[in-house]
Amino acid sequence: MIDFELTDEQRLVRETAREFTDREIVPRVRENDRNERFDTELVKKIADMGFLGAIVPEEYGGRGVDYRTYGLIVEEIGRGDSAMRTVVSVVTSLVCSSIARWGSEEQKREWLPRLCSGEALGCFGLTEPDTGSDAANLKTRAEKVNGSWRITGGKMWISLGNYSKLALVFAQTDPQAKHRGIACFLVPTEQPGFTSQEIHGKLGLRGSDTAELSLDGVEGELMGEVGDGFKVAMTALDSGRYSVAAGCVGICQGCVDASVSYAKERRQFDRPIASFQLVQEMIAEMVVETDAARALVWRAGWLKDTGRPNTTETSIAKLYATEAAVKCANTAIQVHGGSGYVDDYPVERYLRDARVTTLYEGTSQIQKLIIARAVTGVNALS
Ligand SMILES: Cc1cc2nc3c(=O)[nH]c(=O)nc-3n(C[C@H](O)[C@H](O)[C@H](O)COP(=O)(O)OP(=O)(O)OC[C@H]3O[C@@H](n4cnc5c(N)ncnc54)[C@H](O)[C@@H]3O)c2cc1C
Repeated sequence: MIDFELTDEQRLVRETAREFTDREIVPRVRENDRNERFDTELVKKIADMGFLGAIVPEEYGGRGVDYRTYGLIVEEIGRGDSAMRTVVSVVTSLVCSSIARWGSEEQKREWLPRLCSGEALGCFGLTEPDTGSDAANLKTRAEKVNGSWRITGGKMWISLGNYSKLALVFAQTDPQAKHRGIACFLVPTEQPGFTSQEIHGKLGLRGSDTAELSLDGVEGELMGEVGDGFKVAMTALDSGRYSVAAGCVGICQGCVDASVSYAKERRQFDRPIASFQLVQEMIAEMVVETDAARALVWRAGWLKDTGRPNTTETSIAKLYATEAAVKCANTAIQVHGGSGYVDDYPVERYLRDARVTTLYEGTSQIQKLIIARAVTGVNALS
């Protein structure tokens, strides 16, 4: 039976993450968004709180928390700033959890403590200019030259790509073998042949770093075996989608909080707008979306913590929570009227930031195909 009761420790972690978000993240978010500034100082503060790599075992520098606790941290940070939440999701779920699951003992000892402490950031290089949803169809090539792996190709839309010391790079070792030829490599970014370029002009997540990577014969260390690459990517996304979903619950909650407070303050027709039934309807709809999204995230976390299969349930949580965040943010702007259209209030940023969550780590369409594959037994993705 799923137990929705939080432990005392989980409540304490949530409270700590909430206070940290309100004290450190919220006061900086508007300026970082306006200036498209990736706030490395704030990233360091997040790391100092132990919020990067929180699910990593303590012996490798993490806090060894369970997925439900991790979800609570991510929700709070997501309420404050999706750009910073993206840092937590990428480093913790896509990079650290992959190394913890697939890395050799040496690879874990080399990278995990540095990633958890924020000394090094890591990025996840799966998407390419010509390869997005069809992730098995990678063009980036890896070849063994004199006993070491050399990687050549390009990666697109890579979060933290300009600031990372480590890139997880997925590459094809044998095009004939299709997904069975894909391998995952640990690529230190400070080496000849590795270049990154900033991507600007994003609708949202403006305080997040996004890069195009170019790899020209860079050296990489194999993680797992050749042919494991696709599995590495999928297990990373199982954790990453959970994290995105939890962050979106934070956006939904932020929309509710902002709307309730605004509706009680703002007066029209000599009454607070909160007294109008149509405004109450908008607020009630946001509350229902938030509760439903949170319940799905908590279910996925519980399945992960109890070692049960959870790919489908994680996709359900990701699909629902990301779409709910877009809906809530749009509704929250409506509650705020014209004031919701400018950045005096967080709701217009919530909408811009929520929008990417239905795209990255698998679009909503891809989540639907994963969910329908589970119930029909028919794979539309092959
Ligand atoms: C800000 C940002 C940050 C990102 N960060 C990272 C990162 O850190 N690492 C990384 O590897 N990637 C990252 N991405 C890339 C992201 O994961 C991809 O954009 C996403 O997977 C979609 O791929 P695509 O953009 O190539 O779209 P496409 O795959 O070309 O899809 C275009 C449209 O076609 C639909 N579609 C495609 N195939 C099917 C199908 N079989 N059935 C039905 N519909 C389909 C899609 O749902 C979508 O609506 C990021 C993207 C953004 C915008």
